[in-house]
Amino acid sequence: MEELSKESKIVELTETLKEMALILGAFKVGIATTETLLGGPPSADLTYVLPEAKSAVCFALAFDQNLIDPYFRKMDHESLETNKVRITTLANGISLEIADFLQQSGYKAVPQSANFVYRRDTENWLLDMHPPISHRYLAVRSGIGYLGYSGNIITKEYGSAIVLASVVTDAELIPTDSLPEEENYCDECKLCLSVCSSGYVDPVEKVTVTLGGKEFSYGKRRSNSRCFLVCGGLTGLNASRKWSTWSPARFKIPEKDEDFIAAIPTATQAYLERPKFKGGFFICLIPGSRMEYTCSNCHLVCHPDKKVRNARYKMLIESGVVIQEPDGTRRVVSPEEAKEYLKSMPMERRKLYESIPEEKSV
Ligand code: SF4
Ligand code: SF4
Repeated sequence: MEELSKESKIVELTETLKEMALILGAFKVGIATTETLLGGPPSADLTYVLPEAKSAVCFALAFDQNLIDPYFRKMDHESLETNKVRITTLANGISLEIADFLQQSGYKAVPQSANFVYRRDTENWLLDMHPPISHRYLAVRSGIGYLGYSGNIITKEYGSAIVLASVVTDAELIPTDSLPEEENYCDECKLCLSVCSSGYVDPVEKVTVTLGGKEFSYGKRRSNSRCFLVCGGLTGLNASRKWSTWSPARFKIPEKDEDFIAAIPTATQAYLERPKFKGGFFICLIPGSRMEYTCSNCHLVCHPDKKVRNARYKMLIESGVVIQEPDGTRRVVSPEEAKEYLKSMPMERRKLYESIPEEKSV
């Protein structure tokens, strides 16, 4: 009889927490446990953030799908960026509220921010960029979505235009299972790679992780410095030179992982000297403590409907390139116009946007 009431309490708490996440703003919620994550990579280890951990509540919030086309067409950067910043902030808030609820109920609970928090226990922790807990592993194992080739969580509802956050707790909760892999809509179209100017994901090699006896595969990720350079807005011109991200900078994107570290200081210095932007995320770990979203292309291009994916890709590669006026205003122009505009700049200003061969700078 006593066993039954303990079981009922676990069921009740599990259902309450799931309902709470949905009512507060998530569109999908799942529960992972130390058992369902067993055998996973280090960032699937819940005890890293709470030694007594037994379970985690993981949930997903969606960005506004209506803002993606204008973003890819380079008609409107600000609306999607603001939406991303605020939805991410809401995800962090939900995490905090669920953790508070658990703590007030007598359990230990640690909120896990959606992004921009890293383990500090390795010599190169800032380059390694390992999160305390990887929401992706929790999300795929608890049935929020699938792992796409990109390594992002992709969902039937909103593709990968989502943000994830979690709460780790010592409360016993009932796990939710992963989704059937045969229903994973990722057909390895690799448009997520085609829109990535940094070449972050290997086009051929895959990695497999095992979580609680189940295997999940996705494209192998290369150096995190790749995404940092491009997604962080330090540079943005695609190798085709026909389109860019929302960054007005066009420093060369190296081909090899080992060359990225050397490319970062010049691009960073120029980034700091360019006119300041409004908005973005406040992150103390990056130069200037501010990051605007200039890319996120891999997240935004992936939609369950292949026609939508293809249309978004076309919008992006036909959208032109971004240049910046002296007052900071960004304009979208053709690749040819951008080239002429850069050439006409005084050398000191031009250096804020691109590397100039020595003989041309004298
Ligand atoms: S863009 Fe294509 S390959 Fe990439 S995750 Fe989505 S469906 Fe998979
Ligand atoms: S955010 Fe941009 S640079 Fe980073 S992996 Fe995605 S597409 Fe590549």
